[in-house]
Amino acid sequence: MTTIKGATKKSMLDNVMQQFNKTADSINLNPNIRKILSVTNNEIKINFPVKMDNGEVRVFTGYRVQHNNALGPYKGGLRYHPSVDAEDTKALAMWMTWKTSLAGLPYGGAKGGIQIDPKEFSIQELERITRRFTYALGENIGPEHDIPAPDVNTNEQTMAWMADTFMSTKPSSERSRNQHVVTGKPVGSGGLEGRNRSTGYGVYLTIKLLYKSRGESLQGKKFIVQGFGNVGYWASHFLSQDGAIMIAVQDAQATIINENGIAVQALFDHSKAVNGSVKGFVGAKEMDSDLFFALPCDILIPAALGNQITEENAYSVKADVIAEGANGPIDTEGEQILLRNGITIIPDILCNSGGVIGSYFEWLQNRNGELWSLEEVMQKIDKKLSEAFYKVEGFVEEGEIDWRTAAYILAITRIEIAYNHRGIFP
Ligand code: GLU
Repeated sequence: MTTIKGATKKSMLDNVMQQFNKTADSINLNPNIRKILSVTNNEIKINFPVKMDNGEVRVFTGYRVQHNNALGPYKGGLRYHPSVDAEDTKALAMWMTWKTSLAGLPYGGAKGGIQIDPKEFSIQELERITRRFTYALGENIGPEHDIPAPDVNTNEQTMAWMADTFMSTKPSSERSRNQHVVTGKPVGSGGLEGRNRSTGYGVYLTIKLLYKSRGESLQGKKFIVQGFGNVGYWASHFLSQDGAIMIAVQDAQATIINENGIAVQALFDHSKAVNGSVKGFVGAKEMDSDLFFALPCDILIPAALGNQITEENAYSVKADVIAEGANGPIDTEGEQILLRNGITIIPDILCNSGGVIGSYFEWLQNRNGELWSLEEVMQKIDKKLSEAFYKVEGFVEEGEIDWRTAAYILAITRIEIAYNHRGIFP
């Protein structure tokens, strides 16, 4: 059984390619454009040395994969996780191309990461690892070229180090013009009010809009969350504010349940206090992690890693709606089973696109020298994401297709149109 503890390595790329090929067939995608989008533009792999606190030198491996930039600069997160490798990074970069296209942003898609478990390093070591990797990436990233952002196990601190390192390599007259080389920075260092909540907010918003279209509210709806990091926490926060009830949470250390409801803020405070885990929370009891996906609930939010719901456990899912907070949490075989069972899946490229939409506004804010309030930012994100949601929903109804297929068709068609206008150089 695939669980959060061990995301299967084989098929993130298989999944995204299967999804792409299915869409390309269904829209009769121009074969030349299909060739271009089937591969990544650039794949950068860097081995770089860093001095540890004890004086020992270790060599780390980092990746940046740039899939496509037909619509604008490459955009996408950087993750720190032992599972980071060339294959997964390619898949994640491709997903970013579809995500930014669907959201109507002027961006392409990229992804990167370093193959480490950040828990094994001191804060000083993480700073040196981040800065050395940024330095090694050099001109492969840039505010109008490729713009990283936080992802799994990276955060605004990581982005502050990256921005500072990148800007330090520029002549002093150019430094401030390079602040938007990364997004997801701390608010005091060029970051956007609300960026850290934007992914989770978007997950909540897409769920809310889905139920609204069905004429239902979130009041009393039971939800379960896999992964209680930034995305899982903020999605749960907003859902519970609207009266939905969180009954179970799973992370890499533990799976906890309380049928009467788990207090979101108290759980978050607990997890912050105990090394980022929900384990040991007094307001819930621990349960068998293998039974998590089979819990009766209305909404299931996988907000951790890829390939968590597969043909091995998809049959047991009882939820009515799955909202993909993570990228690629359901594999193709798992999805077929879920769809046959009448479960609505809000696909990652729509569901978690609030994050990159927030990034876009941070980038614009830096570029234009503006500063927006939290309220203004949330309104902007709301508007942009709602537009994408309603476009996909319209397509689902019109074509009698599932949500992922509709989202992919819209995303890939936009890129096809750009290529048709421009042709291929030379
Ligand atoms: N890492 C996030 C994602 O997967 C955000 C990317 C970004 O803001 O560039 O969508």
